Amino acid sequence: MPIVTAVVWYDHRRRNRDSKEAVWPGYAPGLFCKRIIDLDLGMKPVSPYAQPDVVACRDCTRLVKHQARIKRQHPDYWCAPVPGWGAVRSRLMILGLAPGLAGAGRTGKGFVGDASGAFLFKSLHSHGFATDYRSERARLRETVITNIVKCVPPANRPLSGEKRNCERFLARELESFLPKRRSKNRVILCLGRDAYESVHRLLELPTMPFTHGMCLRTRENVFILTSFHPSRLNVNTGRLTQSMFDSVIALARSLLSQ
Ligand code: SF4
Repeated sequence: MPIVTAVVWYDHRRRNRDSKEAVWPGYAPGLFCKRIIDLDLGMKPVSPYAQPDVVACRDCTRLVKHQARIKRQHPDYWCAPVPGWGAVRSRLMILGLAPGLAGAGRTGKGFVGDASGAFLFKSLHSHGFATDYRSERARLRETVITNIVKCVPPANRPLSGEKRNCERFLARELESFLPKRRSKNRVILCLGRDAYESVHRLLELPTMPFTHGMCLRTRENVFILTSFHPSRLNVNTGRLTQSMFDSVIALARSLLSQ
C-alpha cells in the first residue's frame, strides 16, 4: 500500500511574522492511505480543451439563474460554465474555487481578465509557466487552470451541493492530468481551502488541516501544493503577498524540474 509522505515547506519571510501559519500542524509522516490516486470513474481522459458537456451543463438551478441575470446586465459576458484551459500536456494544475464575475465569468477562461488573474499571471510568467504576465494575452506552458465549480456563483460562494454537483468534472480533469504510470513529476496547486478539500476528497487522501505553503507528496511523482487564494480580499489585506505566492510557484517549478 502506498505511503503518504509530507514535506513541510514554508516561506521564511512569513515565518518570522507568523510562525503558526508557517508550519503544518498535521504533519504526520508515514500515514497510510486507503487508496491513492486510483480513480476509476468510468470516464475517458479528455484534453483540457474538449469539454462541450461542461459548457452545456445546467444542473445547478441557482447558478443557471444567476448567469442568466448576469447575461441580461452584460450581454457580452461569457455567462456559461467555464471548463479548464491550458496546455494539453500539462504537469501543473492550478485549482481555484469558482469563476470570478469580472474574470472567467466575462472571458470564459479561468483567472483571465481580473485582479486575481493579474496577480497569478505575474508569478506564472516569472517562472516560465505563462508566455505573458498579462492574463488576456498569455498562453500557458505545461499548466492547466481550472475551478471546482464551473459557474459563477452569487457573492463568489458556491453552496456545498453545487460543489458536489460539479466535482465530477474536476474528477475527470484530474484523471486526465494525473499520470497512469511512472513519469515526470506532476503538481496540483490548490488555491484556498475549498480546492484543497476537494482534491483530498476526490483522491481519497487522509484529511489534514489546510494552511498556506504546504507541500504534500501523495505518491512518488505527484505533489499537492497549497496557497491562500489570490482573491482581492486576501491580497488587499496582505494575507497573501506577491512574494509569498512567488515562493509557491518557484517550488512548483523546482519540483517539475526534478
Ligand atoms: S456549477 Fe457545474 S454542475 Fe452546476 S451547472 Fe455549472 S457546470 Fe453544471
